[in-house]
Amino acid sequence: MDRFIKLLAESRHCVFLSGAGISTLSGIPDFRGNNGIYRKFDADRIFDIDYFHADPGYFYSHSKDLIYNVDEKEPNIIHYVLARLERMGFVKSVITQNIDLLHQKAGSKNVIEIHGSPKENTCLSCGKTFSYEQTASIVRADRVPECDECSGLIKPNITFFGEMLDREAIMKAVDESSRADLFVVTGSSLMVHPAASLPLYSIRNRGRLVIVNNRPTPLDQYANLRYDDLEVFFEYLESNFNDTK
Ligand SMILES: [Zn+2]
Repeated sequence: MDRFIKLLAESRHCVFLSGAGISTLSGIPDFRGNNGIYRKFDADRIFDIDYFHADPGYFYSHSKDLIYNVDEKEPNIIHYVLARLERMGFVKSVITQNIDLLHQKAGSKNVIEIHGSPKENTCLSCGKTFSYEQTASIVRADRVPECDECSGLIKPNITFFGEMLDREAIMKAVDESSRADLFVVTGSSLMVHPAASLPLYSIRNRGRLVIVNNRPTPLDQYANLRYDDLEVFFEYLESNFNDTK
């Protein structure tokens, strides 16, 4: 671990990528892991754009407990340590595959959400936007949110299966990854694009790669350092970077 601290201290532009593995500590199911919601629900269907248009109630009845309950979820040590490292100037940005808003809740400012975000919700008919809170209050009353201007269907700005990725977020993620002289993968198995290719932008520019994940990734061979246990990794960082003194 001291080797990682040294890399972090030497780095000038450190970027973290976070995947579903970091949210499981907050009790949020990993969509593809052993305790993944695939075991309980059909995630392929919940987040499928054609299903959403055909039956939005199906999505909203499930998203009530998956997405629109952020008040009930608390960030964990990983989210807090990353926010602290950003505050202290060691981390420039967090690129995340997660849609649970927990990095923001923990205090991270520069968060790039490559699978979109429920913090904004858009009327599919007229384009009017609604906040997370506005939409959540309707969903939690077991109603499908409709636009107050035109009665159009409202959809969170999450990227569903069958939809184009958010171009602006991807461009920002690629730009940050290219600038990163230290790229740290946490809780992602790098199986899903675009996350899978982001570390390569850093490597191409001679960036160093560190991977912290409990399962193998396709880029392990390129990693300068490799750790399995996220909790141990972040507990060590927490004890070494303390800005409350
Ligand atoms: Zn509308």
